Amino acid sequence: MKYKFIAKRYWNFKEASLSKTNEMVKRYKDIIDLSIGDPDYPVDLSIIENMYKDALAGHTRYTEFLGDEELRKEICKSYREDCRCNYTKENVFITSGGTHAMYLLLESILDEGDEVIAIAPYYIYYEPQIRLAKGNLIVYNTLSESNFEIDIGELEKTISYRTKAIIINSPNNPTGRVYNENTIKALIDLANKHDFIIIADDIYGALNFTNFKKPVCSYDYKNERIVTIYSYSKDYCMTGFRLGHIIADEKIIECIKNVNESVNFTINAMAQRAGIYAIRRRKEIQSGIYEEYRKRIFYAYERIRNINNMEANLPEGTFYLFPKIKGTGLTSEEIWEKILDDAHVLVLPGNGFGEAGEGHIRIACTVGIEKLKEAFDRIENMKIFK
Ligand code: PLP
Repeated sequence: MKYKFIAKRYWNFKEASLSKTNEMVKRYKDIIDLSIGDPDYPVDLSIIENMYKDALAGHTRYTEFLGDEELRKEICKSYREDCRCNYTKENVFITSGGTHAMYLLLESILDEGDEVIAIAPYYIYYEPQIRLAKGNLIVYNTLSESNFEIDIGELEKTISYRTKAIIINSPNNPTGRVYNENTIKALIDLANKHDFIIIADDIYGALNFTNFKKPVCSYDYKNERIVTIYSYSKDYCMTGFRLGHIIADEKIIECIKNVNESVNFTINAMAQRAGIYAIRRRKEIQSGIYEEYRKRIFYAYERIRNINNMEANLPEGTFYLFPKIKGTGLTSEEIWEKILDDAHVLVLPGNGFGEAGEGHIRIACTVGIEKLKEAFDRIENMKIFK
């Protein structure tokens, strides 16, 4: 918005389609909301109870600048046990979720004009975050027709002397794609060859329905070029806790700490305590979440297979489907509005995830099967999908 008291660089700041949903969801009383990736699965009670006890015991003050030491140790232990990565607590920085983590990292590694490659369709906020950190987004487009596969040779053509990082999000939001071992290894080879960082946005790690479950860091955890961004929002359904972490070389972590001191000072102490209890019971907690979302996503996939003018790829991870709707002849935004007005179902338009998302919609399976059934019954009855 153009206004004298707003910095000029924000006059053309585009509102993300996600923030428009706050208004859209109020348009009809019976809306089924499949827009924002805010999972409905309840937070494990033991996490809340233990967090409460810790709050009573005095964990209500600033924590260490790197984050609660016990949590950082617990994180290291979990990486050691789960994927044989031997990190120390100096490699770990606690954040207020994945979004905060990515911004702090970009702010810490980018010089003005440095380039960051993102594989499109990509998570909505990468683009503004790169811009805020004074970098340039370089887009590498993938297509639903080739299951959003990365062609390493083509990707290499987007690398320049200004390339500082490439963001890999697997399982992927919005496509649900999981990259296989060959792709990850080839990406690491590229990073070594051209000397840039791989930012692994691992936020859906527990929602991986394939056999390629190894996080990027586990291929070469000592490699200073691999940085992991993590969040407790999806794998533990703790979106409201605003908790995440970064794992990186100590020198990068030290810089992130310094940057964050003037942004957020320290992270919510009680949320950090909750993180400890979540990690300790991760196997039990995540198996329940995994089963539930797996059931839902395959249900939704089967429903889409029977809808005309809608095509989805076989789900591989996350709780999102990203069906193609090009057969309707409408744009992503037109179909977004139409599904809302005709079926009272709120999804997201694919073009919000980069131009490669045009001709798609994103459906978040964040309601139970019964509600999903109703949503797909309504969509199926729309003239345009008959
Ligand atoms: N990265 C990806 C790919 C996401 O989909 C999201 C949230 O949807 C985030 C990061 C950030 O999530 P949060 O800030 O809740 O941790």
